[in-house]
Amino acid sequence: MDNGAVYDVGIIGGGIIGLATAMALVQSGVHSLVVLEAEGRLAAHQTGNNSGVIHSGLYYKPGSLKAVNCVAGREALVRFCQEQGIAHQACGKLVVATRKDEISALDALEKKGLANGLKGLRRLRAAELKEYEPHVAGIAGLWVAETGIVDYVTVCEKYAGIINVGGGEIRLNFRLKRVKKNGRELVLHSGHDEVRCRNLINCAGLYSDRVARMCGVKPGLQIIPFRGEYYKLVPARQDLVRNLIYPVPDARFPFLGVHFTRMIAGGVEAGPNAVLAFKRQGYHRWDFSLRDAAQLALYPGFWIMGSKFWKMGLGEFYRSFSKKAFVRALQRLLPAIQTADLNPGGAGVRAQALAANGSLIDDFRITEAERMVHVLNAPSPAATASISIGRSIAAIALKNFALRR
Ligand SMILES: Cc1cc2nc3c(=O)[nH]c(=O)nc-3n(C[C@H](O)[C@H](O)[C@H](O)COP(=O)(O)OP(=O)(O)OC[C@H]3O[C@@H](n4cnc5c(N)ncnc54)[C@H](O)[C@@H]3O)c2cc1C
Repeated sequence: MDNGAVYDVGIIGGGIIGLATAMALVQSGVHSLVVLEAEGRLAAHQTGNNSGVIHSGLYYKPGSLKAVNCVAGREALVRFCQEQGIAHQACGKLVVATRKDEISALDALEKKGLANGLKGLRRLRAAELKEYEPHVAGIAGLWVAETGIVDYVTVCEKYAGIINVGGGEIRLNFRLKRVKKNGRELVLHSGHDEVRCRNLINCAGLYSDRVARMCGVKPGLQIIPFRGEYYKLVPARQDLVRNLIYPVPDARFPFLGVHFTRMIAGGVEAGPNAVLAFKRQGYHRWDFSLRDAAQLALYPGFWIMGSKFWKMGLGEFYRSFSKKAFVRALQRLLPAIQTADLNPGGAGVRAQALAANGSLIDDFRITEAERMVHVLNAPSPAATASISIGRSIAAIALKNFALRR
């Protein structure tokens, strides 16, 4: 497209949600679109640093956007991987209760899974756990056959290929800094370049609230970055884990607890800690951004959340600095694991939306505005659910925007 051209749709963010949305639009016959990505590569943030799990749909409130899109998205993703020849495995996972007081939460999880239509659930007694994971210790468990593994960067590369073939464009190194409304057009400025479009879809992940404000839309929430820190099992000890081993999650928090995940490319990850990050893309313990930290400190919701969860937060910080404490948490599931079995792994930063009243926003949040759609909360399992979320956003765009096809 020449420089003077105006795109029908500008999509901000080349993570899995922006790309899945662009793919769905192209497949609906919309060709005048551009994906604008700040980094020099696609899937550079949440998508490229995630655990590679194809979630089953076990954890989510029946009827929620997470539940509906996870189940539909999982089925669509597995089909997509089969069609496109992407390596993936439906290896299943084991959820393990290690304390009596977790049994009622395990019951609730099983009920949710059934309500969400999972067919491969099997409730296990202590002795049956070892059929699936010989080294695990627990008093009861739940086998979840529908869980799988994949590499989401490879998935994104395939989405990008379909966008390009369908006539859509992808521009890297375009960090949106300012949006100007010019009659029917939106002028998107990166500082050294500009792109014009008629409609905008915000899929900026960790920056989705800021992009909304740039567009003159009040997001009604703030993104709080939580860093997930991982270890890797040394090769000689990888046989301690066959597939995926998870604890029973604490229903008060949006995280799943430290677990073991076999990766599709080989190796086993253990983690994560979930530590508040003082920089939105802060992958290292000492990363700090004055702007990000000040924005946290000035947000009333942050202090309300802090007053509720400070104890848990301190525990996570402690585990972040103490490998011994981290190993103790893992030993609840796998008693044989030792400090020497773990090497430092990578980290990923989650965008967690927080309301001004201090409540963590659990479900996906997609907000419509004039000539815009803003994806303001797309945490896990959004990678699993991406094809379904992308289709839903494309449907909103086709309904609200006057798109040429
Ligand atoms: C540690 C971790 C583990 C996870 N594990 C799983 C899992 O196993 N399974 C699963 O289903 N989900 C998992 N998730 C969740 C999943 O990865 C995310 O929900 C999903 O990747 C969100 O995709 P996204 O496109 O919204 O965000 P992102 O992948 O973060 O993409 C947003 C993009 O927008 C770009 N951007 C931001 N601001 C601008 C701007 N101003 N201009 C231009 N571009 C901009 C960024 O550079 C980025 O590339 C995990 C997440 C994390 C962090």
